[in-house]
Amino acid sequence: MTTEHDLVITVDRDRCVGHGRCFDLHPQLFTSDDLGFSVVKSTLHDQSTRDAALDASLDCPERAISVRDRSTRS
Ligand code: SF4
Repeated sequence: MTTEHDLVITVDRDRCVGHGRCFDLHPQLFTSDDLGFSVVKSTLHDQSTRDAALDASLDCPERAISVRDRSTRS
């Protein structure tokens, strides 16, 4: 069973190099900080953002974006 906010999106700041693919392609999910690194606008999302989040994760050359179900322990 899914809940309203059961998708967790995170950006690993140690991996992000700030070339901006994620916030250029998915501005509804990501923005940049003052230094140009990616920031998730909101960590918790409903399942309607899954496709965009997974797309962003696969498109990130640094593998800095993680998407997981909230119920899944990492
Ligand atoms: S695509 Fe990846 S490395 Fe590039 S800004 Fe986004 S999170 Fe950072």
